[in-house]
Amino acid sequence: MKSMFHSFARIVFALAILIAPQIACQTLTSPPATESVSTTQVVPYASPTESTEAGDDEIMAGIQESLDLYAQAYNENKPDLLEQVIDQENKPFRRIVRSRFDDYQISSFAGSGTFAYKLLSIHKRELGYVIAAFETAGGYRADWPFRRVGERWVITEPTVDEVGAAIVTDTNHFSFTTYPWADDVNPQIMDMMQTARAEVEKVLGQAPKEKANVKIMPIYGLSPFNPMNAIALYNKNGAALENTIEIYTPESFAYGFYDPALEWDGELQQTLTHEYTHMAHARVFDNAGRLADWMSEGLAEYVAGDDENLYWACNSMSTGTLIPILDESDAVAKQDLMHMYLLERDFALSYSFAHSLVTFTVENYGGLDGFWNLAHALDDTGDFKKALQQAFGIEYEEYNSQWQKWLGKQC
Ligand SMILES: [Zn+2]
Repeated sequence: MKSMFHSFARIVFALAILIAPQIACQTLTSPPATESVSTTQVVPYASPTESTEAGDDEIMAGIQESLDLYAQAYNENKPDLLEQVIDQENKPFRRIVRSRFDDYQISSFAGSGTFAYKLLSIHKRELGYVIAAFETAGGYRADWPFRRVGERWVITEPTVDEVGAAIVTDTNHFSFTTYPWADDVNPQIMDMMQTARAEVEKVLGQAPKEKANVKIMPIYGLSPFNPMNAIALYNKNGAALENTIEIYTPESFAYGFYDPALEWDGELQQTLTHEYTHMAHARVFDNAGRLADWMSEGLAEYVAGDDENLYWACNSMSTGTLIPILDESDAVAKQDLMHMYLLERDFALSYSFAHSLVTFTVENYGGLDGFWNLAHALDDTGDFKKALQQAFGIEYEEYNSQWQKWLGKQC
């Protein structure tokens, strides 16, 4: 399946959307202040009836124009242009769009891609919202909500009030929170969560006994203090938020882009498996290897099984960007895979490197048992070099060069 990336153009376009910057998830270290949700809607919205009166051709022309401006803003690093096509009245939404833009512009890929979007179809929803299905120059798809504000069709999402009241559904292993706005996909996503659990049990040998609280969120605004670069999250804090997984639904900006070969549900299945792996890691395996961020995120990627993801780290290394296992400089904020969450740039890319390190270790050092040995040795010694000696009897330099050699063959 790597053939989809063979031509250079597809690489940069796909990279541009991949590093735009979506990551599979980020584990939260502090509880989101969900009680602030009600303060987010401060400005009354424009009359929603306008949009439904416009003809489809007119709506499509308006949305295409906004997509063109959005692409131009990315290509030319023009935040002011970006602001013109974002719903300025929806404050949390405005923050997430801007944050993703800023992350991209400081990444290694800034300036390397030519963003272009082609509108494919529209689907009118309630309250004047229109879901636009479009394609990127790299062949990826997305379905984002727009609404008309004045003369412009702006990228947006419904408000907390508009998505409807939360509904809680309990099953054997899950407590799902859903919103009526996404009822067209909620049952399917709930089924996919069961599949994620079965997949985790198959690969890791065990799955958590505890129930997972799964929030299926059609908008970012429901948890407006979540990290803005994540398309899903696992919260391993205690108390009320324990065992909480939050995922965004496909028809949202927060969900981002998907590979049409996998369809939205194929990509989402991998994301759900990724998140549930975090919960298994915490509840069944006591977060072994907790000092190494790459062990947690790499394991989640490994179990999710998207091997194409290894391509990005390989390609990046071959063009001169390597995120090292250990940053051996004197820097206080280490720029390495042990400290992924502290990376000042290329955080999204670091998931591919972490994935590669776990897969390399599993394939060359005794399967998942070898991986767990290394994780426990790290917990015992608190030092990755000592852990390698204890688990595999190998020097860091050798492990590091073997890994890089292996990674070089993945693209
Ligand atoms: Zn994750």
